[in-house]
Amino acid sequence: MSAYEYEIFYEYEIFEIMMRYGGGFLLLCLLALAAYATSCPMLGLAAYNDARAKCNRNATMWGLLVGLLGLVFPGNLVAGIVYLCVRNSGQNRPVYCMNCRFPYAAQLPNCPQCGAPNPFGPPPYDVNAPLYAKRAKRDLIIGLVALGVFVLAIIGFFALFFSLAFELVGTEQFSSAYNEIYNEIYNDIYHEMY
Ligand SMILES: [Zn+2]
Repeated sequence: MSAYEYEIFYEYEIFEIMMRYGGGFLLLCLLALAAYATSCPMLGLAAYNDARAKCNRNATMWGLLVGLLGLVFPGNLVAGIVYLCVRNSGQNRPVYCMNCRFPYAAQLPNCPQCGAPNPFGPPPYDVNAPLYAKRAKRDLIIGLVALGVFVLAIIGFFALFFSLAFELVGTEQFSSAYNEIYNEIYNDIYHEMY
């Protein structure tokens, strides 16, 4: 083979490698995009439904916060963790009975000692709460699975990238280009020194 033929051959080899990987890159990009686009609204819905199940007055705010902050990764995860931290906080704080000063859990509607009504008690119980709890669980599972697929697609993307890099490094064209650059630099340094 002449030098020119070699060049054509190895150019083709690199072209062929790029073509082989191109589809994989595109597929993983689309998969990551679709998975992430699914996870954001699902996690937002999970937060909304969970808040509804807990009779939280700010359910819509939490749903929008978790859903929309997903536009800036990992805003939805941060908002989700903040929500998980505060979702039960209101129930655990103690209140003191106005009548007998007895301390009891804020989520109780009445004082367990004297029966006086709790003015800081929870909002009226929503009959649909179990339904919201069920939806919250379903949305959370879908959202987390989609997030998992997103992470796997990103890992796959990098794995493919390194595999491509290794294959390109292995080609004759790369090593000859590398040798050429190496020789040039070597000659430059050599000429400067002597
Ligand atoms: Zn009391």
